[in-house]
Amino acid sequence: MEKKKTGILPQREQLVKELTPQVKEDLKNYFQDRDYGVIAITREDALRAFVVKATNLCEIARLRHRLSPMATAVLGRALIGAILLTSLLKHGTDQRVLLRIEGDGPVGLVVAEANAKGEVRGFVQNPDIPTFVKEENGRRKFDIAKAVGKGTLTVVKDLGFGTPYESSVPLVSGEIAQDIAYYLLKSEQIPSAVAIGVLVGQSGKVEAAGGFLAQPLPGATEEAIAKLEENVKSLPPVSTLIKEGKRPEEIAELLFKGFTTELLALKELSFRCRCSKEVARGGLLAMPEEELRRLIEEEGQASVKCNFCGEEYLFTKEELQEILEEKKKGNN
Ligand SMILES: [Zn+2]
Repeated sequence: MEKKKTGILPQREQLVKELTPQVKEDLKNYFQDRDYGVIAITREDALRAFVVKATNLCEIARLRHRLSPMATAVLGRALIGAILLTSLLKHGTDQRVLLRIEGDGPVGLVVAEANAKGEVRGFVQNPDIPTFVKEENGRRKFDIAKAVGKGTLTVVKDLGFGTPYESSVPLVSGEIAQDIAYYLLKSEQIPSAVAIGVLVGQSGKVEAAGGFLAQPLPGATEEAIAKLEENVKSLPPVSTLIKEGKRPEEIAELLFKGFTTELLALKELSFRCRCSKEVARGGLLAMPEEELRRLIEEEGQASVKCNFCGEEYLFTKEELQEILEEKKKGNN
């Protein structure tokens, strides 16, 4: 019986570790306040969860893109959503997943990309949108759906071989977590519970951010699925849990209440962009010759900004002339 259950898990995930008080202590000492995620399963049944704490990386995104509180909440959710979607990738590889939300709301285009190593980056089209709030159970909350609007959610999976796999679904809520759950069900046939929360303080600073993706694996019993649903329903908002100091492995235990929680994998998470001056130079090289000439003659320099992380790359007049020369050679 036990053997049959581990048999449904991929090879690489067979190193399981029970979440003992000592293991929890070790995790706390190792990660401290850093962002990370845990992939956990239940010993008694086939349930799986990926739980992440992403407070720091959301704050870095806010500072890098100079996001308003509302835009911080939207991009933070998308970044965490992309991280959760790395569940579809092979752990520890260069595979990556891009989440693109195209709604008709004021925030405009929202893009987040994460790789299987736990690096994430992203941006919103309009970083300075005002705050929209709504009342829910007597609490004032960001109205994410109002900022996002109606439209589509697209997931692009680059598995490192050939054309990336792309699939879109209509936005069903605009709150992002529910939309990701809908995508997983419709496009990947994975029924799951997804929760994402980003708590923005009065000053605009990210105080707590995180999320989880919980799902039954093939072979899960009806009782286990019902228990998981019940646990998910009784859980406070994930940002509240993180704000209270709960760690990803402890949230996994709450999701798996009634079961023994075991750890499959750990993932350190960070806001990191793959851009470089070389990539920015490639962008200039792709410009029409007349435009390059205009930059050289009228501006005397150029600044190329990376959409994903806000980094600016400066090019001097000499560097621009070099690029123009290279372009002329290439065109001949
Ligand atoms: Zn960048």
